[in-house]
Amino acid sequence: MTIKIYRGRDCVHHDVSSEHPENPDRLYAIDDQLLSSGLDMICQHGDAIQVKRENLALAHDPYYVDSIFQRSPRTGVIWLEQDTGMTPITLSAALYAAGAGCDAVDWVMAGEDRQAFCAVRPPGHHAEYDNAMGFCLFNNIAVAARYAIKHYELSRVAIIDFDVHHGNGTENIIAGDKQILMCSSFQHPFYPHSGHPVSASNILSAPLKAGATGAEFRESVAYWFDALRNFMPQLILISAGFDAHAEDAMGQLRLREDDYHWVSKQIRTVADEVCHGRIVSMLEGGYNQSALGRSVVAHIKGLHGDEQSH
Ligand SMILES: [Zn+2]
Repeated sequence: MTIKIYRGRDCVHHDVSSEHPENPDRLYAIDDQLLSSGLDMICQHGDAIQVKRENLALAHDPYYVDSIFQRSPRTGVIWLEQDTGMTPITLSAALYAAGAGCDAVDWVMAGEDRQAFCAVRPPGHHAEYDNAMGFCLFNNIAVAARYAIKHYELSRVAIIDFDVHHGNGTENIIAGDKQILMCSSFQHPFYPHSGHPVSASNILSAPLKAGATGAEFRESVAYWFDALRNFMPQLILISAGFDAHAEDAMGQLRLREDDYHWVSKQIRTVADEVCHGRIVSMLEGGYNQSALGRSVVAHIKGLHGDEQSH
């Protein structure tokens, strides 16, 4: 088993409200399913360190990064916008979440046939260059992509995002960046009301209507894989949101665990062909805790390339 699971020390302590869907129980649900599936025993485990500010600045306006540090509260909760709150521990959790991506890149790039999954929160793909949004402070996946390009002198990195919501923040940061190809599926029209049509030629979208099934998802994203083979990324990153699951009330798509297994296995196949199997996956959404835990297990099994079907 060459899969390593990264966690961040304070990621389970960021808790703006027991009513908030993006809460610590998400990570406990994932850990529970990893244990009961037996995957936890055979995966490697890594404790992330906090991201350096200079690495955040690879994807964010330095003044925005400063403003997040300055707004971090000493007590209580402050709201950066209607969905995105900060408690005294949130900044630390966000720094661990973004740091996990960089650490996972380091580990994956240090050898061949390596995959990593970052079980971290807060998520990142709604955070724009200079704007917090949709539970996200720092864009973990965009930071990881730019970090990989800078520190390993890569010229081609792919980002695949199958969260039910469009990754507006990632698109905002990487649109027009010829070193990054983004493949993105999402419910449309839906929050955050972006993504279709695409804003630049380095972005491939697969908008899905409310009610779309796993079969429709597979059909819509099938064209990604030839595009990825043509782009020949040296590293593949995944914004892994599981809120397109049929049991997740956050969206209206109808994916199942086997769809996450399928897409993960397709990605692994391409990664084996073009980038020595190097994949870094980072948790984004997923708010039905049972479905989230089961889907992460299916995702990791697919990344591992096993033959098991669900
Ligand atoms: Zn989402």
